[in-house]
Amino acid sequence: MKQEKSSIIKEDKQYVWHPYTQAQLAGEPLLIERAEGVFLYDAEGKSYLDACGSWWVNCHGHCHPELISAMQEQMQNLEHVIFAGITHRPAVELAAALVNFAGVPFQKVFYSDNGSTAVEVALKMAWQFFSNKMQQRKKIIAYRNSYHGDTFGAMSVSGRGIFTKAYEPLLFEVSYIDAPYPGCEEKSLAQFKQIVQNEDVAAFIFEPLLQGAGGMLTYSADILDQQLALCKEYNTLSIADEVFTGFYRTGEALAIHHLQYRPDIVCLSKALSGGMMPFGATIATQAVYDAFLSEDRNKTFFHGHSFTANPLACAVSLASLKLFENKEYIRHIRSIVEAQEAFKEKISLHEAVKEVRQCGIVLAVEFKSDDGSGYLNASLGDAFEFFAQRGILIRPLVNVIYLVAPYVIKLNELAVLHETILAYANYVIQKQNGKKQFTRSENFD
Ligand code: PMP
Repeated sequence: MKQEKSSIIKEDKQYVWHPYTQAQLAGEPLLIERAEGVFLYDAEGKSYLDACGSWWVNCHGHCHPELISAMQEQMQNLEHVIFAGITHRPAVELAAALVNFAGVPFQKVFYSDNGSTAVEVALKMAWQFFSNKMQQRKKIIAYRNSYHGDTFGAMSVSGRGIFTKAYEPLLFEVSYIDAPYPGCEEKSLAQFKQIVQNEDVAAFIFEPLLQGAGGMLTYSADILDQQLALCKEYNTLSIADEVFTGFYRTGEALAIHHLQYRPDIVCLSKALSGGMMPFGATIATQAVYDAFLSEDRNKTFFHGHSFTANPLACAVSLASLKLFENKEYIRHIRSIVEAQEAFKEKISLHEAVKEVRQCGIVLAVEFKSDDGSGYLNASLGDAFEFFAQRGILIRPLVNVIYLVAPYVIKLNELAVLHETILAYANYVIQKQNGKKQFTRSENFD
């Protein structure tokens, strides 16, 4: 067993290029062999509670039996087929279910295969919406600190920084404004007004209520609503990137359901398939769709991917949506929200903690230890090991430790996550006082 593990790790080093990883500095990756529910198991059978939902994709727990059987059944009938000029039952049924899930005024579903492509599709739709109508609209508004993906369009509308620096000359221009963070509400609104009233703005793109990769930053629903109202007033399209926030992460089916106004386009991915398949969907209103209807073929939406509407992904997403129909399950999700709220009160008082943010089931603890050097700073560099040694998988964002566990987590398991955050906060203080107790281990044995 040991031998086998070391040869896999060796071959990993030889052949594999990992995301967001400086291979020259990185330690050994953790070899995960299997998963069930909230737990991942390594080569020695040690369990890790998946507190980051495997990069926020997993919502119902790993290897969920109903999701597996939906995929198995679909696999035996139709694994994949071209989606131009062809349709299939899972794609149609899922589109209808998603339109129902998103609610009024959404009407049309365009499939792709990840969060970045769902955003690319939305941006291209918004841009071509105006060019099809022969209108000049050149600007896009986005919030600072936003993250919308790693493809070029998605990078262009994301907050600029370390992720985008190398590609800067290739990115298109975007008008950035501050998100309406606490204390920034009026400033955000004024900046938005100034641009939307005076310039030809095609679209406003935002992560509703919670900016994920930017540091789990939360902001005012009220000001976002006012900005959406301004979009309606000035005929600017609005795009809600719900890649992270969708499917009950904020406590509601979609984060936009906390709002009074609705955007024109919504991007979905990650938990869309229950985290089982790479998948994306961009949902638009009938008015957006209608701008592409024409006798003129030049007005066609020229976008598609080989795996558009993959039947396996559609079938598993339908099964995932069905799980949300269980009222008991939704009550459990709400109890996770309450437990997070209660822990927020407690951990906020800790001397190691700068700020605690919480939105729905997501809880983020920002530690004081950041030296201001941003993403490349390893100020919480030992946090991963600290939690891994205690059987918990986290993925800190600089000095922010957050929890996005699958909803099947039991409240006593959530309590263990809370206790471990508390223990880590105590350790940070001990470390600052020079009484370091936790020693960094080289592996996870
Ligand atoms: N939008 C948001 C809000 C995201 O959080 C992410 C991924 N973290 C993306 C888009 C990009 O998704 P993907 O990684 O699947 O391309």
